[in-house]
Amino acid sequence: MRKLVVGNWKMNGVASDLAEIAAIAEKSLSYPAVESALCLPATLISRACDIAQDLPIGGQDCHIQPSGAHTGCVSADMLVDAGASLTIVGHSERRAAQHEQDHEVLAKAQAAHKAGLKVIICVGETLAERDAGNALHIVLGQVAGSLPQNISGDWLSVAYEPVWAIGTGRIPEMADVREMHGAIRAALVDRYGTIGNSVRILYGGSMNGDNAAELLAVENVDGGLIGGASLTCAKFEPILAAA
Ligand code: 13P
Repeated sequence: MRKLVVGNWKMNGVASDLAEIAAIAEKSLSYPAVESALCLPATLISRACDIAQDLPIGGQDCHIQPSGAHTGCVSADMLVDAGASLTIVGHSERRAAQHEQDHEVLAKAQAAHKAGLKVIICVGETLAERDAGNALHIVLGQVAGSLPQNISGDWLSVAYEPVWAIGTGRIPEMADVREMHGAIRAALVDRYGTIGNSVRILYGGSMNGDNAAELLAVENVDGGLIGGASLTCAKFEPILAAA
């Protein structure tokens, strides 16, 4: 399976950062064995698409409705209209700050798929949940509640992002990554049959040029979802090189 390496710029990026996006797009051409993408703030998507060459550009969330009276929200159709070809849904920062529940994440994923986007559904446990020995239970519960019952085609990826590893410089033990990704794989196969083997499971949380090779070598780690280290070409390229 080709590795998928996706940058999540979160609430970062203005017009003056378009040159950095262009640099990442240019550099990604040097790694044809890796599938890469950048998920940007909605305000940048259209302009980024103009300069992104072959690099897919995505959003970071979408509303469950295609349009309507939802002030401040962006629909999946709007992301497509802006030129996006994928979106993240259910990121832990939204699950925490916007109180997004599994059923809402599922509805967003379905809306995005219906609009023609590829979708990355995020799951992950907090530190308190891990310390209490509940990490597998929590994450498999999120998988059960946030993923569609049936899929066809290759539009879906899952990102395992332990909340305590995001932006902290801490990463799990490789044995814990292997255990979690293996458990998610088993859940995918249980739900989808053999198609479950082709759903990519990304790791996210403090992935960088120093640890990417080790993380990406773990069984069932099919790529990465990268925050801070995706903001510059200098930091992102070593992850592409490791993938
Ligand atoms: P960091 O790579 O900054 O830890 O962020 C990970 C993440 O949340 C990607 O979605």
